Amino acid sequence: MAGNITFTIIKPTAVSKGYTGPILNKIHEGGFAISAMKMLFLTTGEAQRFYEVHKERPFYNDLVSYMTSGPIVVAILKKENAVEDYRKLIGATDPAKAEEGTIRKAFAESVQANAVHGSDSDENAAIEATFFFADMERF
Ligand code: ADP
Ligand code: MG
Repeated sequence: MAGNITFTIIKPTAVSKGYTGPILNKIHEGGFAISAMKMLFLTTGEAQRFYEVHKERPFYNDLVSYMTSGPIVVAILKKENAVEDYRKLIGATDPAKAEEGTIRKAFAESVQANAVHGSDSDENAAIEATFFFADMERF
């Protein structure tokens, strides 16, 4: 059975451009409830650990630098079939390939600065949510 939570990050460029509100609005319109949320600044070590699965990829070091270049907003989102439905709402990794109406189509700048992160599986959603939030911060 599909899980009912996913995890998202509003990435540094989207936060600094003032897109936090508009992105949260799209999340709300998409039928997701916010189960936890906060704004924070990742250290290099934290960003390296979060993106550990990509450490052999050529873009890893750049991605870690980018994700530590400014504050981000992290949130746990709740909805039936959350992981799959949120991936649909955010659109393709490369915003040039993202469909009309998706968050990345509307707010992304580039493949790297692609506005948001979204978990790719129920298992990773649970791991990512626990990486950022204590039990008492989740509702
Ligand atoms: P997604 O975020 O869609 O799940 P990936 O998990 O493959 O995509 O990659 C993680 C993040 O790494 C992307 O969101 C993007 O910020 C960055 N990234 C992925 N591919 C590239 C690339 N070819 N060049 C630069 N950055 C990339
Ligand atoms: Mg991914």
